[in-house]
Amino acid sequence: MKKRTDALKVLVVEDSKVTMKVLCNFLERMDIKHPLTAETGAAAIEIYRKERPDIILLDAQLPDIDGFDIAKEIRATERKEDWTAIIFLTSMTKDADLARGIEVGGDDYLMKPVSEVVLHSKIRAMRRLIEMQRSLVDVTHQLNAANRELQRLSTTDGLTGIPNRRMFDELSLREWRRCERMKKPIALVMLDVDNFKLFNDAYGHQAGDECLRAVAGQVARAAPRAADLAARYGGEEFALVLGETDADGARWVAENVRQHVSELHILHATPKRHVTLSCGVTSVLPASGLSFETLLRSADRALYQAKADGRDRVVVNQYGQV
Ligand code: GH3
Ligand code: MG
Ligand code: MG
Ligand code: MG
Repeated sequence: MKKRTDALKVLVVEDSKVTMKVLCNFLERMDIKHPLTAETGAAAIEIYRKERPDIILLDAQLPDIDGFDIAKEIRATERKEDWTAIIFLTSMTKDADLARGIEVGGDDYLMKPVSEVVLHSKIRAMRRLIEMQRSLVDVTHQLNAANRELQRLSTTDGLTGIPNRRMFDELSLREWRRCERMKKPIALVMLDVDNFKLFNDAYGHQAGDECLRAVAGQVARAAPRAADLAARYGGEEFALVLGETDADGARWVAENVRQHVSELHILHATPKRHVTLSCGVTSVLPASGLSFETLLRSADRALYQAKADGRDRVVVNQYGQV
């Protein structure tokens, strides 16, 4: 992107040395110091690529490449945010030539011999356009940044900073379809903090939030591969989607998280004396007739069993036993 400065960078492309000198003098008198210059089409294109000028005064007739072809080349390669104003310099008086200049991407034209007053006015008009274009580019950049931030906020859980339920819903379905195409199993682990209501009651909501952040950190650590997703499913419940993972692999991952959370030794007034996690695990080879919802119910069922069996444990549900 062009740097925002008030000084205009002008390139003059003109093969007549006399006309070049006159034009440069005119420009310097309107405070455009040291305009860039090119006497051939090839030099013009090279300088354009290197310098990205704001305005090009472009002689229509050059010894090597025709000015119209230079304009075409510039328009074909320039990025929208690097727009360059092209003003043709022409001694041709036919309307058709003028029309051609605009058609190939020119913005205006000047008849030779160029009048200083006319040149001055046209540069002023172009400066206005360039400033408008620059502020448009600035606003577009701000909008894009705001959109990215919005996108991030709408898919991230505010408390823990890990993907939220919305992201989970979106990505888990995508992963389900991917595994279906690859004919690979997909695993789901539901993780729920044990006796968390009691934790809040005993230590307060603030400490509860801290605890959830710490647990989320451990859950996120368990999903380092591109095909893995760790999300806050809701409240004190988390979910892990593990692509290309069978039940044994998922059990191993869940067991690791359970252990790591245990090792955080977050004090809790329960028989275990610290915060623990129960996990429900399931894995399946996606196929027709099966859906991600069934996988969810299966993992939920396993989680329920882990709670019923005494908490602080991992239970695997064979898919289909919903
Ligand atoms: P169980 O072992 O059966 O899971 O018992 P539990 O107490 O963890 O489960 P229950 O569903 O009864 O309670 C969940 C608690 O989680 C209740 C709710 O206040 C708390 N909770 C949910 N979201 C948040 C949160 O964002 N911050 C805090 N501090 N607490 C939360
Ligand atoms: Mg010429
Ligand atoms: Mg709980
Ligand atoms: Mg719960």
